[in-house]
Amino acid sequence: MFNQRVVKREGHQGDQAVVPEVVRRSRYPCRLTMYGDAPDVEVSIEEFETFALDRLQVLRAIEDAQLRAKGEDDMRKRISEALEKHMPSHTNRSKLPPRQLVGERRKDHVSHFILRLAFSRTEELRGWFLRYECALLKHRFQNADLAEKQELLSSAQLRLAHLSPADRDAKLGSASGFYAAQEQLFEVDFERVLDLVGRSQVVLRAGRAFVPQSEVAALLIHEFRHSLTQALAVCAKALPQMGEDERLLPLLQNLSNQTARSEYQSTGAAGAVTAESVPGLSDSFPLCMQHLHSQLARDRHLRHGGRMQLGLFLKGIGLGLQDALVFWRRAFSAMTDDQFQKGYAYNIRHNYGMEGKRADYTPYSCHRVIMSNPPGPGDHHGCPFRHFSAERLRAALHKDSLPDAEVREVADLAQAGHYQVACTRHLELRLHHRRQQTQQQPDADIRLSAVTSPNQYFDLCLGCTKPTHASATDTTTAAAILGGAPKSTTAIY
Ligand code: SF4
Repeated sequence: MFNQRVVKREGHQGDQAVVPEVVRRSRYPCRLTMYGDAPDVEVSIEEFETFALDRLQVLRAIEDAQLRAKGEDDMRKRISEALEKHMPSHTNRSKLPPRQLVGERRKDHVSHFILRLAFSRTEELRGWFLRYECALLKHRFQNADLAEKQELLSSAQLRLAHLSPADRDAKLGSASGFYAAQEQLFEVDFERVLDLVGRSQVVLRAGRAFVPQSEVAALLIHEFRHSLTQALAVCAKALPQMGEDERLLPLLQNLSNQTARSEYQSTGAAGAVTAESVPGLSDSFPLCMQHLHSQLARDRHLRHGGRMQLGLFLKGIGLGLQDALVFWRRAFSAMTDDQFQKGYAYNIRHNYGMEGKRADYTPYSCHRVIMSNPPGPGDHHGCPFRHFSAERLRAALHKDSLPDAEVREVADLAQAGHYQVACTRHLELRLHHRRQQTQQQPDADIRLSAVTSPNQYFDLCLGCTKPTHASATDTTTAAAILGGAPKSTTAIY
């Protein structure tokens, strides 16, 4: 798919000519594409990485916007801003030089295929990539002009059966009035437009949906999802064959490690963590870990789910195996050495890859904490925003001395099912109050990228409250936390 050997920029001829004509004859006549053909261009290793990281920033921004936007307009605005910043793509009617228009489209094309490779590795990664690539195409289609829409629709070959006026009356009867009289309708299997069915935007008859012209984007996205799903499966099979390339495979793995839902990569933000220093760091723990930590102190014991969640979190912030054994032994102070060795030490060593299949286990993501293994009676693991009752959550939030209105705001988000958004807002408010106390930019509004793992929360909290926050070290840490390109410094934006 890519020529990996190389390393010079592809030249583009004819910058002097009239834009539409030159662009029309180029490989990229339209800025919208379904990525049907793989790029056959030479790409330098620097471009390979930069293009992919920029696209990743856009997909992550879409994920963030879907989680945190206040309504449809706000979501579109956030996505447009991310595109403008990382991957601008102008229309043929723009007055930009052809070289720039073609360059933008080339970057879009190449970056899609790099991430396609990188994210074909596991089912979870494929699902993540698919979801946000579809959202990106939908956003672009909605913002395209008529000519661009028509060009994309004709290139997509949607195989639509147009409904004649006679068929319309025969098949829809009185339900024909559901649509505007002049609107063209297309008849398709209802599985192709589940989004429209879910929003009651189409009439259904015997498993067939009648899609108005204005909603044809749903069909386009369905086709794109279908073809990209197949393409990702093909890529997944091809990926092992790339094992011999020592430059690309680590790059691809690194890219897919940077999704919000992927496993957390330790940043070492807290420096050397010891059994003694854990209590002092707990002020920067998210609510789930504060709860586990305090219950452990109170009961001098935690059940399996809590030990796993807290233990792997502590490992992620930098607590080494020997210190972990000391930390847990002290915490389980009600039991004898013999009981601890027989019942618990093995599991701790196991988490560090020193027993059993010697896997190096990583901390749980929020997604995992929220979606799997809900806590039962006597358990303390889980996510307070998801698993606490409304009353218990409010009591926990009040412990941070947040004003009533802010407690209500966070609790309402959790109540509405936006658990990670609630947690992120909680962190923003905590940081805001801390800054007020320390007179550090007390009036600055803090907006953070959505929290996706307890360890990311900890890193953000620690990074934002360090007195040397503006230092180069902290900026690097922030970029690493976000999983963005090293050049990025936008942990807070
Ligand atoms: Fe912990 Fe994540 Fe829940 Fe926050 S959203 S409390 S970090 S699991």
